[in-house]
Amino acid sequence: MLRTDPNPPTVPTTARDVSVFGDGIAYFNEAAELLQLERSMRAILTHPSRQIIFSIPFQRDSGEFEVYTGYRVQYNFARGPVKGGIRYHPGVTLDEVTALAFWMTWKCAVVDLPFGGAKGGVTCDPSKLSDSELERITRRYAAELVEVVGPDKDVPAPDVGTNSKTMAWFMDTYSMHMRQTVPGVVTGKPLAIGGSKGRVEATGRGVTIIAMDEMENMKIKPSQTKVIIQGFGNVGMWAARLFAQRGCKIVGISDVTGAYYNPKGIDLDKAIELAEKDHNLAAFRGGDKISNAELLVSECDVLVPAALERVLTSENAPNIKAKLVVEGANGPTTPDADHILNERGITVIPDIMANAGGVTVSYFEWVQDKMGYFWKLNEVNERLEDTLITNFHELRAIANRHRIPYRTAAYMVAIDRVVQSLKLRGVYA
Ligand code: GLU
Repeated sequence: MLRTDPNPPTVPTTARDVSVFGDGIAYFNEAAELLQLERSMRAILTHPSRQIIFSIPFQRDSGEFEVYTGYRVQYNFARGPVKGGIRYHPGVTLDEVTALAFWMTWKCAVVDLPFGGAKGGVTCDPSKLSDSELERITRRYAAELVEVVGPDKDVPAPDVGTNSKTMAWFMDTYSMHMRQTVPGVVTGKPLAIGGSKGRVEATGRGVTIIAMDEMENMKIKPSQTKVIIQGFGNVGMWAARLFAQRGCKIVGISDVTGAYYNPKGIDLDKAIELAEKDHNLAAFRGGDKISNAELLVSECDVLVPAALERVLTSENAPNIKAKLVVEGANGPTTPDADHILNERGITVIPDIMANAGGVTVSYFEWVQDKMGYFWKLNEVNERLEDTLITNFHELRAIANRHRIPYRTAAYMVAIDRVVQSLKLRGVYA
């Protein structure tokens, strides 16, 4: 048995000189301390099981060749095949992918899915690549991973910069290598090739389900609730739409072009039309144009960071006006900022709970692919709500009992579930 932890977790430094994985480890350590987790378990759980880095040479439409870097990190297999998205973004690094794989491990455990955690990525800017270039990159990415992915090994899904089309190319490439169609190798596929109803909107839907439940707990009425959503990709856009459907007022949105604030309410139909047509909000005129930094500290009741990591920091946390922060993104709050928000009495629903709706419906898709039998939309949505609410209420009970924030409660539940599996299986050495 491993009795000591001779190697502290490997936290690679990044060009940005901050470690996202380091943020994750800080959250983990806090909960591990409260759980009085033994050193051997801490050692295992703070190291990724496998990190894969490879080159992706591909041909531009111009005929020139370029080489990008691809990653897949399979963090922990104790609870089952590993699960997690693939990100295409210029900021992708090994550190970021490791952190995201780490968070997938806890996210799957928080909602009690039979999966471990993984994440992948390619350092590239998909907005500057044509569809055929993206297809070649995706096929090469999938081919490089053919031995280590599969429905019972590692099941990728969309993340920032990828979508159902990316998953279709991935599934086809894997299937060609296997000489048979294998829909269950990825989730988030188009419906026609084994996708699930309700998957596209699942993350945004989960964010609103959890937020509405907490608003009720905090006695905040939807009709009197002003919401700011930072990031207008798949998660932010769907969350905005569903918050509005439930009677809340969206007063601010943002994307890479900047932020738009309107205390009377943002014209969402217009914003969604632009986001779908132009792929950005540059032409949006329905509000005051402000910076992303200003948006985060603007007047609102609920703030939903729904883009990338590290947007709520010790710089802006003292000025955040929201009473409730719901993390649609993964890792949007630094540990320093988290402490400030807790001190200020602002409720934070952590990423691993707040955005677990996406992977929950991914799990439903995987189950449906295995059965070859597909569910109706209302069955998917009912099961999603049931999974999220049941597990969220468990976190609330623990948070209340121990007087700890939701984040600490979520890590405690997740770590406990992974440790149980790990102990039952034992360490093969
Ligand atoms: N990329 C999403 C996430 O961060 C979904 C992962 C999945 O469905 O496997 O949760």
